[in-house]
Amino acid sequence: MRAWPSPDVPVLPTTGPAVTLHDSATDALVTTSPRGAARMYVCGITPYDATHMGHAATYVAFDLLNRAWRSAGHEVTYVQNVTDVDDPLLERATRVNVDWRELALRETELFRQDMAALRVLAPAHFVGAVESIPLVVDLIETLQAAGSIYAVEDDLYFSVTADPAFGSHSRLSTAQMLEIYPERGGDPERPGKRDPLDCVVWRGAREGEPSWESPFGPGRPGWHVECTAIAMEHLGGAFDVQGGGSDLVFPHHEMCAGHAHVADPTNVFAQVYAHAGMVAYDGEKMSKSRGNLVFVSALRNSDVDPMAIRLVLLNHHYRSDWEWLDGELWEAVDTLQTWRRALSLGAGAPAEPVVTEVLTALAEDLDAPRAVAAVQAWVDATLGVSGHLADASDADAALTMHSLLDAALGLAL
Ligand code: ZN
Repeated sequence: MRAWPSPDVPVLPTTGPAVTLHDSATDALVTTSPRGAARMYVCGITPYDATHMGHAATYVAFDLLNRAWRSAGHEVTYVQNVTDVDDPLLERATRVNVDWRELALRETELFRQDMAALRVLAPAHFVGAVESIPLVVDLIETLQAAGSIYAVEDDLYFSVTADPAFGSHSRLSTAQMLEIYPERGGDPERPGKRDPLDCVVWRGAREGEPSWESPFGPGRPGWHVECTAIAMEHLGGAFDVQGGGSDLVFPHHEMCAGHAHVADPTNVFAQVYAHAGMVAYDGEKMSKSRGNLVFVSALRNSDVDPMAIRLVLLNHHYRSDWEWLDGELWEAVDTLQTWRRALSLGAGAPAEPVVTEVLTALAEDLDAPRAVAAVQAWVDATLGVSGHLADASDADAALTMHSLLDAALGLAL
C-alpha cells in the first residue's frame, strides 16, 4: 500500500559514527554493520484506532535509527507492515458498526498523517496483511514442507518445538512465556494443540468474518506469520534490525524468528532485535483496553506543534518506560520557542562540535536525551546564557544547526 510522503533529509558536513544498538536477544550493545543498504523491519499498526503516544514513541525511536544510519553514510531499506485484517480490527468494526475495510482505510490514513506530521521517514515498503496473503500462503507451505505445521479443526498451527532456538530471542523460560502468552493474543489452553505455546498461522473461515481461498481452505493469516512473510520477502534473511515495542518481544518477535529459522535453518531472521519502552498515562501503560490514550491526531487537532510532540518523545530514551505528562508538552513548546529564537540570529556558538556530539549520542544506542542536551547547550551559549559567546562566534551556526536538527533528530524548525 501507499506510504506517507517522506520528508527530505539534509546532508550534514560530518559523517556519523557506526551505530550501536541494544539487542534484546543477547541483552548487549551490538555495533550494526550493514552490508549495502541497512535493512530494518518495524512492526506496524493494526488500524482499528488512532495513533497513540506509545505508537508514536516506537516509530520515532526507529526513525532515529534510520537517520543515524543515514548520517553514518548508509542507505536504508525500511519495511513496515499494516495488520489490516485481525481480530481487534474485526471486533472494533463490529462494535462501531463500520465495515472493517472502511475502518482499516480510515485509521491507516490517519496514521500516515500522524507520521508525516511527526516527520518520520516513510518506509520503502509499507505493506498490508491482506495484500500479502499470497506471501503468507507460500511461507506456510514452506513450513508445512519442513513438518512444522498441523491442524486444529480448521486452523493451522506452527509447532514451536520445530525451532531449536525457540525462546532464545526473548530469553524467557517456558513458565514465563506461558504466563505472558494469553495476555498477548495466545491461546495456550486450546484443546488439540501439541504445545501450549504453538501459534496460529492460518485461521480458518468463521461465520461473519472475511476469508480468502488458500490450499488450506478459506481463512486468513495469523499475525506473526504475516510479519515473517513480509520481512523475508522485502528484506531477505539476516536483516539488520527487527524493531517494535517491548510488548512484541514475546510472543511476536520470538514467533517470527521461529518461522524464519524453520523455513531456512541456515539463516537467522534478524541480526538485532531492538525494542522501545512502553509509555504510560495516568499511572498505567497506555493501551486500548485501559482507555488511557493520548492521540497524536487529537493534539494536532488542538493546534499543538507536532515538533513539540516529537521533542517530548526525544526527551525520553527509547528503551525506557515513561509516563506522558501534559506539562512536558508545554515545556517542549517553550523550549522550541527558545531554540527558534537562537536559530533566528544566524550566527551563534560554534556548531561543528554540536554536530559531532549529536551524531555520537544518537549512534550510541539512540541516546536522544543526550543529543537534545547538546543542542540546548548550544542554544544557551548562542543566547549568551552561559556568557562565553563573544570569543567563539560561528557566522553559519544557524544554518548548520537547522540541518543537524532536521537530519539527525527530525526536528524541522
Ligand atoms: Zn510484526
